[in-house]
Amino acid sequence: MSKQILLSTPHMGDRELEFVKEAFDTNWIAPVGPHVDAFEQEFCEVTGAGYAAALSSGTAALHLALQLIGVDCGDEVFCSTLTFAASANPIAYLGAKPVFIDSDRTSWNMNPELLEEALKKRDRIGKLPSAVVLVHLYGQSADIEPILKACNQYEIPLIEDAAEALGATYKGDSPGTFGRIGIYSFNGNKIITSSGGGMLVSDDSELVTKARFLATQARDPAPHYQHSQIGYNYRLSNVLAGIGRGQLRVLSERVAARRRNFEIYSSALSHLPGIEFMPEAAFGISTHWLTCLTIDPKAFGADREQVRLALAEQQIESRPVWKPLHQQPVFADCETIGGAVADDLFAHGLCLPSGSNLTNEDLDRVISGITAVHEQSQPLQNLRKNSLKLLFLCVLCVFAVNHSIFCA
Ligand SMILES: *Cc1c(COP(=O)(O)O)cnc(C)c1O
Repeated sequence: MSKQILLSTPHMGDRELEFVKEAFDTNWIAPVGPHVDAFEQEFCEVTGAGYAAALSSGTAALHLALQLIGVDCGDEVFCSTLTFAASANPIAYLGAKPVFIDSDRTSWNMNPELLEEALKKRDRIGKLPSAVVLVHLYGQSADIEPILKACNQYEIPLIEDAAEALGATYKGDSPGTFGRIGIYSFNGNKIITSSGGGMLVSDDSELVTKARFLATQARDPAPHYQHSQIGYNYRLSNVLAGIGRGQLRVLSERVAARRRNFEIYSSALSHLPGIEFMPEAAFGISTHWLTCLTIDPKAFGADREQVRLALAEQQIESRPVWKPLHQQPVFADCETIGGAVADDLFAHGLCLPSGSNLTNEDLDRVISGITAVHEQSQPLQNLRKNSLKLLFLCVLCVFAVNHSIFCA
C-alpha cells in the first residue's frame, strides 16, 4: 500500500532540537525564559511588527486581542465568513456577537466594498461594531488598504487574523502588521509550527505589555498573589519557543517550497476543463500555505466531493475549502452580509496536500489522481473514441470479406 499523503504536516529544520536542548540544559522548562523573549524579538524582525507577545495558541492571541481592544458582552464584531471557526470563537468567548462579511473573488478574502457599505449603514443607525476581524486566507493577504481606510473612517480597530499568512506580503509588508493588533498561529498544520503556539503583535508597546500581563493570570506587582482583573494562562512555553525560533530560521525556505507546490499543481492541472486555482492577488505575494482550487462539476465531469473521495481512496488527504461561518450551526443566528461568494467557494473548493516536505513523487500522485478522475468521468468521450475504433474495424472486416470474395 502506498504511503499516506497528508494535507500539511510539520517540517522541522536543523536548529529546533538544539534550542530545545538548550532549554533542557538550562532548566528553562516554563512558560517564561530566554527562548520566549528571543522568539518575540526575532518574530518582530521577520515580520516588521513593533512588539510581540508569544502565546499558547493563535486562538488565545485573538481572544486577548479582542479583550485588549475593549470588546464587551453584547457588542458586535465584524468578521470574515470564509475562515476557520477559531477566527470567530473568541468573539463569542467575550459574549459578543460576530457579523459575517463575504469574500471577494480576487483574493477569497473579505470584500472591502461590502465592508465599507455595511459600516456606512451601521453608522447611519448608530450601531457600529466594536472591532473588525480580518482574516488572511490560505497564505494570501486580504486587500488591507481599503479595509483599513474604512475602519479608520469610523474609528473601528482592525484586528488581523494572519494565522495562515505568516511569510506573505501585502504591498511589500507583512499582513498582520497593519491593523491595531495582528495574530499568528504556530499550530502543527501551519507554515511553521512550534507544536502549538501563537503570537500577538502590535506597534503599541503598552497593548503588548498588557497582553503578557493578561496571559500570565493578571498578577498585580506584589510579593503576594494579588489580582484586580481576570487573567488567563496563555503564555508560550520556553521549550516550544525554542522550536519556534528554529522554525523562524527556515520560514523563507518553507514559503518557497509551498509556492513551488502551487506552481507544479497549477502547471499540471489548470488546463483541465472546470479547474480554477485560487487566484494570487496583484497586491502581494501569497505563501500558498494551502494550494486551493475550485471544480466546476459540469465542465470537469466530477464534483469536488467525488475528487476528494477518489483521492482519499489512494491515501491522499484533501479537504473542502472552509465551510463559511455563516453556514455553521453554532453561528446560525448571526447576521451575514452577502455570503454567496463564500458559499460558492465552499461548494466547489478543494485544498490539496500542500506541505513544504512533499516530494515530487507525492505531487505526481496527487496530480495523476485528479487527472484520472477527469478521464474516467468522460464516458461519452470514451465511447466516441471506442466507437471510432469499432467503426474502423467493421470497415476493415467488410473490406477483407469483399476482398476475399473477389479473390475467390
Ligand atoms: C489556525 C487558525 C487559527 C487558530 O490558531 P491556533 O494556534 O490553532 O489556535 C485562527 N485563525 C485561522 C484563520 C487559522 O487558520
